[in-house]
Amino acid sequence: MQHQCLARPTPPPRRFDVVPWLSGFAVVSLVGVSVIRKVAAWAGWDLPRAASIFLGDYSWWGYWGSVIVFGLVVMRRWNNTYFRWRTVSIIVSQTIFGILLIGPLKQELEVPVLWQRLHLTWPLHLSVITPYWKDKLVATFVYGTAMSLFAWPVISMLIGMRYCSWFCFCGNLAESAGDSWRTKGPKGPSAQALDSVGYGILGLAALVTAAAWLAVSWPWTIYDIGVAWFLSTVIGIGAYPILGGRVWCRFMCPLRAMLGWFSKRGRFAIYTDDHRCIECGTCNRYCEMGIDIRMRARQGIPLQDTECVACGACIAVCPRYALSFYPFPSPEKAVEAMNHRRFRRPFKRQLATPREI
Ligand code: SF4
Ligand code: SF4
Ligand code: SF4
Repeated sequence: MQHQCLARPTPPPRRFDVVPWLSGFAVVSLVGVSVIRKVAAWAGWDLPRAASIFLGDYSWWGYWGSVIVFGLVVMRRWNNTYFRWRTVSIIVSQTIFGILLIGPLKQELEVPVLWQRLHLTWPLHLSVITPYWKDKLVATFVYGTAMSLFAWPVISMLIGMRYCSWFCFCGNLAESAGDSWRTKGPKGPSAQALDSVGYGILGLAALVTAAAWLAVSWPWTIYDIGVAWFLSTVIGIGAYPILGGRVWCRFMCPLRAMLGWFSKRGRFAIYTDDHRCIECGTCNRYCEMGIDIRMRARQGIPLQDTECVACGACIAVCPRYALSFYPFPSPEKAVEAMNHRRFRRPFKRQLATPREI
């Protein structure tokens, strides 16, 4: 067998990178605008009309612009096929859903209610499973319930939680504007001990939904302010520069808890090769979900029972090409594969799960 160089080339260090500063400004200003609008609504302040319109528009266009601009930066920075397609999905879905269907253009376009709610998934969006038929929105209720409780769980079992890295509003901002702080995600046993907080919030979301069905509204109000706004926006987005882009996703998101439960029992996995792993720990550093990839890799165990969001970062940064979305049939094939830039392989291979090989 021909011996080959196993090392991934390391890019030269840059003296100064402006991108984290720009994305820091973008996310902090988005959170700032959200805080001003919320406080003004609570306090009953009558903001000047121009300021009100500006803040409202900034929320939409600022979010969308951040996804587009920093998404393009991500495509350039990572320069691999998986990241490229994932970012295309992020940009397209945020343009269709964020701008055309539910955003600032929905009134001009007279978008029907069902179309406005195509992207919503319970329990991230509690309103999906509320008694809509009182307002004659039966189709909306049926669609939302089927997608939330059946389609996305099944998809997660088949191809992992790609909802979180290809489609979700929060995840999309994390994978674009939050990309600069990928390595800041909390690591280690003390952080891992908090991983199941999301299950508690999932239970809370179920209780709040049940209360809505019983026409009790105060739990909804508290949840809306405490979880849906403060934890997911102020902490979740505002803490990007300090705790990375996935602090809400990893610790608190109830939808992550639900889809993660299914994903861990499905067929999605990241495959490891203990022959090639040198235990450098780079994969762990870049994993924002705090998964101990190195431990699995050094034992050659696939990561199958994890709440991986399929971002692909660990695979892209591994200097020894020891990780992949598909298994190598033999050590010889594994060495052969090193001739390729992993993500330059055909697109289907990037999305492959074991049975597709
Ligand atoms: S963990 Fe929750 S908020 Fe984060 S990307 Fe997934 S569904 Fe969206
Ligand atoms: S699998 Fe992780 S620890 Fe092993 S070589 Fe790759 S990056 Fe380093
Ligand atoms: S295990 Fe890898 S693909 Fe999964 S979330 Fe962590 S870095 Fe992303």
